[in-house]
Order: sequence, then structure tokens, then C-alpha cells
Amino acid sequence: MTAPVINGWFTVDGGTAHLLGTRCADCRTVYFPPRTGFCRNPYCDGEDLAETRLPRRGTVWSYTNSCYPPPAPFVTADPYVPVTLAAVELAGTGIVVLGQVKDLTVDDLRVGMELELTTGPLADGPLVWMWGAPGATGATGATAERQNGESS
Ligand SMILES: [Zn+2]
Repeated sequence: MTAPVINGWFTVDGGTAHLLGTRCADCRTVYFPPRTGFCRNPYCDGEDLAETRLPRRGTVWSYTNSCYPPPAPFVTADPYVPVTLAAVELAGTGIVVLGQVKDLTVDDLRVGMELELTTGPLADGPLVWMWGAPGATGATGATAERQNGESS
């Protein structure tokens, strides 16, 4: 498998992508990215933050596209292919996670629609989490490609 772009922020288990956060054992507050040390809730003295898998689905909070290449050190495809980005509020957490959108454009998205966590490679190779249509893609996108091939 391709190495994740950021170790400890997500994992792929049995072909299914999961964002990794931490949860305070005392007040149950969930954090992403994962935190260490102490709970940031000002009403909690907790220091027991355990890794937890975050909900894989959420609703679009906002979205846009990037029609020009981001500056270095971000490595882009050559020639540059515009990407779609979405900020997705994870179900039941209030946490909004930004990510590249896989196989959808801004014309396909609307605020409030449901997206599901998936993964895909950045232009220079590392695997990163992405957002996709629910049930459309597995961790690598191979499932959707296979299904598309069979149905056409
Ligand atoms: Zn706490």
C-alpha cells in the first residue's frame, strides 16, 4: 500500500479509510487532528486522550475548487488538473474536516449533502484522505472503477 501522507491522522483497514482522532476519557470531547497531553475543554482536567476512529460520513459544510496550482511545497500533476475541495462536518461530532473531493466537481456538490471518507494519491504519490460520494469508492477507488466497468 502507498504510504499515508500524514502518519496517525488516518488509517486504511480492510480497504476502508478511517480518520483518527482522540477522545477525552473524562468529558468525551473528540479532537481531530489527534491531540496528546491534556484535554482542551476548559471545564475538564482530563489527561487521558485515547485514539478513536471518527465517523466516516458527514455533510458538506462548504466547498470550492482550485483552478490554479497551490504553491510549493505542494506537488501538482503536470499539466495541472483542477481539484475540488470540501469541508465536511463529521456526523455527530461538529468537527469539520477539509479534504480533496474524489470523482466529483463543484457542479455535483451542495451544502448539506452527505459525503463519505475515501482515500486517493496526491500527485507525488502519498496516500491522503479524500471525500467521495457515499458508497461510490473504497479506500483506493478500485471498487467504484470495477463497478463502473461492469455496469457499462
Ligand atoms: Zn475532557
